[in-house]
Amino acid sequence: MHITDIESIILQHDMEEELGFSQGYYKQRTAHLLKVHTDEGIIGIGEVFGAGPFAFANQAIINHVIKPLVCGRNPLDIGVIWHDVYNAVRDHGQKGLPICCLSGVDIALWDIFGKSTSQPLYQLLGGKARTQIAAYGYGMMFRKQKDLAAIYAAEVSKIVESGFTASKMKLGMGVQKDVELARAVRHGAGDGFKLMADTNHAYTVGEAIQLGQQLRDLDFYWFEEPVMPEDYQGYSAVRTALPGIHIAGGEAEWTRFGHRELLTRRCVDILQPEVAATGGISEFMRILSMAHAFGTPVIPHVWGSDVLIAVDMHLVSVIPDIPGGLHQFEPMLEYDTTPNLFHEQLLSTPLGIREQITATGGYVRPPEGPGIGIELNEDFIETYRVA
Ligand SMILES: [Mg+2]
Repeated sequence: MHITDIESIILQHDMEEELGFSQGYYKQRTAHLLKVHTDEGIIGIGEVFGAGPFAFANQAIINHVIKPLVCGRNPLDIGVIWHDVYNAVRDHGQKGLPICCLSGVDIALWDIFGKSTSQPLYQLLGGKARTQIAAYGYGMMFRKQKDLAAIYAAEVSKIVESGFTASKMKLGMGVQKDVELARAVRHGAGDGFKLMADTNHAYTVGEAIQLGQQLRDLDFYWFEEPVMPEDYQGYSAVRTALPGIHIAGGEAEWTRFGHRELLTRRCVDILQPEVAATGGISEFMRILSMAHAFGTPVIPHVWGSDVLIAVDMHLVSVIPDIPGGLHQFEPMLEYDTTPNLFHEQLLSTPLGIREQITATGGYVRPPEGPGIGIELNEDFIETYRVA
């Protein structure tokens, strides 16, 4: 078997309402999918992290840099291809766009591996450590509306009602405003409900500690990306100053080499590699092993279409218990609950996340088909394809 083509597909749709986070607002959703074609007719599906203009830049890297390196090769040489591409792009980008592109290709190669052996991805990765996985409902993004605290409180109540057992909100509007929003969400969710807050590196170390103390008092479970990702010492200082709340981060870190820094410098309590950015499934598994050696739990970051949601359902399934015992730390699937056509419409058989959550009280199961176990809805792709 050999690879005959890599097809890069960018999908976009307008949103009814602008949503934001500490770094900006956006009005469009983007998904950048890959189809890796083979001479045997097997097609691997992948997804590349990077919305808006970054998807178009990534498409150029796929077409001009990676495609010539990969076409003609055996798609089951996944590890060899990974290192050849990484070595080729190293001098031009050890982090960021080139690694996002490599990630998407690697995901598609694992899908081909599964399809060619008729095995689901979780089986190829060592088997399920748990039959069902908990999912947390992500929501409470910035909106350009006045009474954001009331909006956030109502939104988290809905997430609780729909069956999720945990939820994550966006913060990063300044410490004082953030405390008001976090209080509203705690009130809307109720005492004892698992809550997380994400500031997308909005703060200095001093501000992050000030906010983290308040979040801890409100019984938040984790505080995500408190400071800028390049500031490893700052991360470590924030973590040391805030016992009693978990510091999470890692979505803006790349490959085993970047995550090595977060681990050896003891920056985080929970590591959050993003499979479509950090180097794909191959690299995710290497980072997972390294994190395990440091005793640091992994809960993957997910920001993408249902292709990535499905990939992450497999990944969360195979994460080993840490440290091992009857009552274990449970990794969770991140699931965006804000309006998103790339959830529930992109696949010909939807993942049914919300239905599963409601039926099981917060749990989902990975697809059982070969590879990632999904099929794309080609009519939907035709409608929303822009490049
Ligand atoms: Mg985040």
